Amino acid sequence: MSAPLEDSFGRVHTYLRVSVTDRCNYRCVYCMPEEGLTWMPREDILGFEEIARLVRIMARMGISKVRITGGEPTLRTDIIKLVEALRAIDGIEDIAMTTNGHTLAKLAKPLADAGLNRVNVSIDTLDPAHFGRLTRGGKLDRVLAGIVAARVAGLVPIKLNAVILEGENNDQIFDLVDYCAADAADTELRFIEYMPFEERKFKSVPAEVLRETLRKRYTLEALSPPGRRDGPATHVRLKQNGLKLGFISPLSEHFCASCNRLRLMTDGHLRTCLAHDDTPSLRDLMRAGLTDSQLEEEIRAMVMGKPSGHDCQITGGTLFEGVMTSIGG
Ligand code: SAM
Ligand code: SF4
Repeated sequence: MSAPLEDSFGRVHTYLRVSVTDRCNYRCVYCMPEEGLTWMPREDILGFEEIARLVRIMARMGISKVRITGGEPTLRTDIIKLVEALRAIDGIEDIAMTTNGHTLAKLAKPLADAGLNRVNVSIDTLDPAHFGRLTRGGKLDRVLAGIVAARVAGLVPIKLNAVILEGENNDQIFDLVDYCAADAADTELRFIEYMPFEERKFKSVPAEVLRETLRKRYTLEALSPPGRRDGPATHVRLKQNGLKLGFISPLSEHFCASCNRLRLMTDGHLRTCLAHDDTPSLRDLMRAGLTDSQLEEEIRAMVMGKPSGHDCQITGGTLFEGVMTSIGG
């Protein structure tokens, strides 16, 4: 084991998100333009051996949790091999995936067999037509079948991610709660604030407004002590049905001071902060022939240069840089 991945503000990093593809079969209104994006050429995308190599190096520096994301990670043809490769790395204790669920009915079992521990599935409404509009072509029945399959395969607890947008789906909050409450024992519903990348297309709903809405029907029992967080989310449990809710509120309740995460982007850039695009590509350094210990030094220097945080607010402040799909959320 080498020294932990600490930055200049004393934050120690144990969690890595890996965006394994920028491609997606959906076009969610808050994530991608309607016409899609120009996909990265395949040779620019990290190969699965390259991802595994970087994760192995970072595991020696204390990364123990990996989340596979994208784009839509299940579109990668070698996704099962990748999960197997990550599972074999010493020090990696937890492997999770964030997916739109479209192909999960078929893939949940092979993914679990390969060593995936858990999934987060994104679902912003339970109305099939509305779902089709928000995802620009997504199929709600497939996602719901995927969630069932994930539960059967033991990919639990399942976290369902909902991005709530003012005037778009803020009428869906109680339907989502009711749906999740039916399996409260192994489900967490997470409300994620919309983050504006490059332009502000929607109005984010602040976490406190969501909690106020929920209090009209439920008693919210705080699970995160004031000022303390379990990762980026603050948690409550609904007294009436036992459902755990998470609020991820990067705009209305900044959590930069306790950020323990790094993001390996599709093209090998290491994003030390979700909002800022500021490091050279590890892919290029690897392909230029750097050894593992040289790469370790580079990664350490990048983490040391991590900014203190971002300045994006519910209204105003700076915007997030780059494209969500190659960063991975
Ligand atoms: N395709 C997968 C999915 O949708 O779950 C994984 C990638 S997606 C980029 C990861 C997460 O980011 C999803 O839960 C999605 O809802 C969320 N997301 C995408 N764009 C966002 C934005 N502008 N603000 C907040 N969350 C966003
Ligand atoms: Fe695709 Fe996920 Fe972005 Fe939706 S949020 S467009 S499913 S990457």
